[in-house]
Amino acid sequence: MAIRSPIAVVLGHVDHGKTTLLDKIRGTSVAAREPGLITQWIDLTKGIEPQTVESLNILKARKTPFLVCCNKIDAVPGWKSSPDGSFLANTDQQRPEVLTDLDNRIYTMMGTLSRYGFRADRFDRIKDFSKTIALVPSSAKTGEGLPELMAMLVGLTQIFMKGELTTSAGPAEGTVLEVKEEPGLGVTIDAMIYDGTIKVDDEIVLAGRNGILRTRVRALLVPKPLDEIRDPRDKFSHVEHVDAAAGIKIAAQGLDDAIAGSPIYGVDNPSKRADLEKRVLGEVESVKVSTDRTGVIVKADALGSLEALTTSLSISKVPIRLADVGEISRRDVVEAEVVRAKDPYLAAILGFNVKLLPDAEEEIKQAGIPVFKGDIIYRVLEDYSRWVEAQRSAGVKAEMELLIRPGKMKILKGFVFRRNDPAIVGVEILEGIVKPKYPVINSSGKRIGIVLRVQDQGKDVTEAVRGKQVAVSIDKPIVGRHIFEGDVLYVDVPVKHATTLSSKFRDHLSPGELALLDELASISAKNALGVIS
Ligand code: GDP
Repeated sequence: MAIRSPIAVVLGHVDHGKTTLLDKIRGTSVAAREPGLITQWIDLTKGIEPQTVESLNILKARKTPFLVCCNKIDAVPGWKSSPDGSFLANTDQQRPEVLTDLDNRIYTMMGTLSRYGFRADRFDRIKDFSKTIALVPSSAKTGEGLPELMAMLVGLTQIFMKGELTTSAGPAEGTVLEVKEEPGLGVTIDAMIYDGTIKVDDEIVLAGRNGILRTRVRALLVPKPLDEIRDPRDKFSHVEHVDAAAGIKIAAQGLDDAIAGSPIYGVDNPSKRADLEKRVLGEVESVKVSTDRTGVIVKADALGSLEALTTSLSISKVPIRLADVGEISRRDVVEAEVVRAKDPYLAAILGFNVKLLPDAEEEIKQAGIPVFKGDIIYRVLEDYSRWVEAQRSAGVKAEMELLIRPGKMKILKGFVFRRNDPAIVGVEILEGIVKPKYPVINSSGKRIGIVLRVQDQGKDVTEAVRGKQVAVSIDKPIVGRHIFEGDVLYVDVPVKHATTLSSKFRDHLSPGELALLDELASISAKNALGVIS
């Protein structure tokens, strides 16, 4: 039985040293050439960052065995590095306080990982590797710790992945990683072949934007040994066949529409074709969403990222109307407009690593549909939920604006500016809010009149809140007959408004305002409402 190489993936936050590590292992220097930072390890000096959390969640969901490299130990203050050596051997030469510092960092890491549901420990302290995640302190820069890292990787693979490492002799099975235009080759795909064998001239099936793609392998290209498929230093080498597991570039006709993340199958017998195509479609359809539900529109560059986005949205209970691979098009905006009529908070487009097509841009300008896009999933989600919150509170504010809210004020002694027509008195707002046009009652529930104006230090204001001392003018009463210095007056909140406030907007009122609503209710219960004569 053939044995394939395991597929090891390096995940981690940007700048935590993934590229440097791979370079060190291979003795190459891709990091010096890498333009942006494409790959996603934990930097011991920084700890766990959001992209790492995202990776951890994916590892958990997929039950993938993993270990954690705690990189940059050379940066621990006082650490004495010995290049390329064993971490454990190297601990002998460290001062005790440096080792304590390292241990504290490792404990912090263990604590953080346990919050995400993983038990972890330093690799040499673990008894049962099936229950505990190994933390391997190392430095991609000096190479120390890498012997242990490699030994752990090989050991875990042999213990936990024996079954998965045998391959069948049959046709290839793999996953499309990237779809890329290559000079002289046209649109090619980078694929991970995880089982079987792929040969030049094999028929393959995979998913395209608009259905199944069926084509024949024109050329198989591999990066030179120890080079990177993402950024090869040299031209690729042509090969006739490749056995799993291997990363390979496939050139073939008609790959323009290929979807990153699609499964890819070799067809060695036409009678199996229909079945394989069904499997491809099945896997793609399980990720895409197309409904007439009231929900958000989701677009991503690849099936994997689309799945990650839709999964996160489902966890947050955000309904999805449409989820697909591809740039944001006019149709997406039109769909969002349909949603807006039913639920404005769901009328939004979320995009991961995608662009806005020009006609979509035009439509967005007209329709004003918000688009949240970026290259970090949690940030796209966060931007969206912040927007929803802001919209909600703006909506609440507008609705509350239409209601008469409770207020309680006391007429200050010695501050009668005018006795009547209208009466103008200085007041202190004891609770709630007072605004022009608010009706006012006295403490026995009798209607006194309507607030005409509220002035703060001689200037008209639209409202005065608790704690403020202002002058108010009230149309009807006569000071000395209907109202007196030292009187407490209330805003006369209509029963309907009071009911809406204390139910729908309860969370938006202070405990003091809620108590005031109760006080008002007891005033009106005790007293038949009357009008001053
Ligand atoms: P990536 O974004 O995860 O691929 O990170 P890089 O490999 O590009 O590293 C980011 C930065 O951290 C670079 O400046 C590296 O030189 C530095 N770096 C990586 N590994 C180590 C390490 O073990 N020790 C120290 N001191 N610096 C490191």
